[in-house]
Amino acid sequence: MRIDILTVVPELLESPLGHSIVKRSQNKGFVEIHTHNIRDYAKGSYRQVDDYPFGGEAGMVLMIEPIYTLIERLKSERSYDEIIYMSPDGERFNQKTANHLSTFENLIILCGHYKGVDHRIREHLITKEISIGDYVLSGGELAAAVVIDTIARVVPGVISDETSALSDSFQDNLLAPPVYTRPAEFNGWRVPDVLLSGNPKEIDKWKEEQAFERTKQLRPDLLDE
Ligand code: SAH
Repeated sequence: MRIDILTVVPELLESPLGHSIVKRSQNKGFVEIHTHNIRDYAKGSYRQVDDYPFGGEAGMVLMIEPIYTLIERLKSERSYDEIIYMSPDGERFNQKTANHLSTFENLIILCGHYKGVDHRIREHLITKEISIGDYVLSGGELAAAVVIDTIARVVPGVISDETSALSDSFQDNLLAPPVYTRPAEFNGWRVPDVLLSGNPKEIDKWKEEQAFERTKQLRPDLLDE
């Protein structure tokens, strides 16, 4: 799949997209990520991308023209499944949305900044709005990084042990069971015996029970869904 990110602060995306599984997803050719600086599409020697809001509120607003030019250019090159705007008032992001987005060919993700973007962009160009939670970030870049990381790790083939991503929390509306590694005993704290038993059936049963118990205790709302 291909993801085009539109931002006025591309530097904010360099590290989150340049390491670990997101980097591997690109190196292996499963995910192609292109970061575009909105400023490159702005006019005039100042390359102005923001302006004062009509109606005289505090803060600046990202202007429609450079973003429109950039989105139209991208759309003329290929068709996009969704043009997403990161926004605190968007649909709350979750694993189900990530799984769904990971099946698409081409996505655009627009990151806002300052007070946000000229609302006409949202009315006429955006097809989906995503929030990563009920709090306000300075820009959409970190939110976009969260979304892309979540998508990349469920694209088939990205994580070599395919079952690994599927056994994470929120797949099947269950939290993940606890995990342990060597040493089997530390400070007198022992790993549950069943995990050392070598009995795969018993181990699977234990994991399922733990997943269910933890969900019931910590996130009973997931069991209602
Ligand atoms: N004035 C806006 C907030 C602007 S914050 C409001 O009150 O709704 C600046 C930018 O950060 C937004 O345009 C958006 O792209 C991004 N952003 C902030 N919080 C976010 C969140 N919780 N989820 C996704 N994007 C967010």
